[in-house]
Amino acid sequence: YRDVSEAEREHTRLLWLAEHDFLTGMPNRVKLQESLAESVALAREKGRLTGFVFIDIDHFKNINDTFGHDVGDMVLVNFAKRIRNSLPESALVARIAGDEFAVVIHELEQEAQLRELMDEVFAAMQRPFKLDEIDIPITCSAGCVLTDGSTHPDEVIRIADKAMYRAKYEGRNRYLVEPIVQIT
Ligand code: GH3
Ligand code: MG
Repeated sequence: YRDVSEAEREHTRLLWLAEHDFLTGMPNRVKLQESLAESVALAREKGRLTGFVFIDIDHFKNINDTFGHDVGDMVLVNFAKRIRNSLPESALVARIAGDEFAVVIHELEQEAQLRELMDEVFAAMQRPFKLDEIDIPITCSAGCVLTDGSTHPDEVIRIADKAMYRAKYEGRNRYLVEPIVQIT
């Protein structure tokens, strides 16, 4: 019996690893895509909206260059926690790569709700990150999109990505919301 339960534990561990990011313990890209597809289908079914957001830390390379990679890692872990704690539990927060995170928010009714949540996320970054006695200020840029479920998830991702780059281009430390996406 012990062998069976050990094999089960190993199986569970591998399943977890396949869907999570090792550094932050957050869901990874695989889990994100699954959640977005589910959310979009649900939005269509229920006549609600899905919010999708890309968030990327501003000038994160400077953190690594100034304080070292380990401190950079610590910032990533705490950045992830602050996003997580700013959003409802039902939202999915994933680490996509490097300093890039993505969020899926289910069953929204209007754009104002998404903006309120993004205001929470940005408010959570106001307080500097602490390294011993040193304060490290962190800002980020985000691209947000709302869909009524009539958009393919890949298109949702593409639009949010573009909006995030536009937020960077327009001066960083801001989020931009793309209008509700509908089939044309
Ligand atoms: P921008 O405002 O344009 O986003 O500038 P940036 O410096 O943040 O540029 P970018 O987002 O392209 O760079 C992300 C950097 O994150 C690049 C890489 O050196 C660093 N990075 C990627 N993965 C990790 C990691 O796991 N740990 C640490 N410490 N750094 C990482
Ligand atoms: Mg960055």
